[in-house]
Amino acid sequence: MSRYSVSITVKNINQLSMTGRTRNQERILTLLQTLNRAISAQDIYVQLRNGSQSIGLATVYRALEALKLEGVVQVRTLASGESLYSSVQQDKHHLTCLQCGKSIPINECPVHELEIQLHQFHKFKIFYHTLEFFGLCNQCQELEPASIGVK
Ligand SMILES: [Zn+2]
Ligand SMILES: [Zn+2]
Repeated sequence: MSRYSVSITVKNINQLSMTGRTRNQERILTLLQTLNRAISAQDIYVQLRNGSQSIGLATVYRALEALKLEGVVQVRTLASGESLYSSVQQDKHHLTCLQCGKSIPINECPVHELEIQLHQFHKFKIFYHTLEFFGLCNQCQELEPASIGVK
């Protein structure tokens, strides 16, 4: 009679990997690590679908939410309001042009040291930080002021 609990345990093992992630979470994390760039939830959904893996868009959002709280995925919101997801390994920052929307990656991280200090002072476990610069790119600065905002 005590055997019935065994089947429940086995079912849980099938759903969760060694890391406690679901298979969908693992798929998405692997995809983000492979791509090595930020991508929208919609594009993640399309990519996984193209790989003939059946997954729903709502599942993609749920998995991203869980991965975010785990500290392995980060979100970057563009000026357009679109959210881009990437794996957390990348400590990358951008200069974003408000006129043409171009995003220029920068290689330095001026807050890396600060992050270590904050962690020590507040005992806060920092997963990642965001830092973005907004303005006009070189090309857009050359446009006549009157033509800015007019296509
Ligand atoms: Zn521009
Ligand atoms: Zn940084």
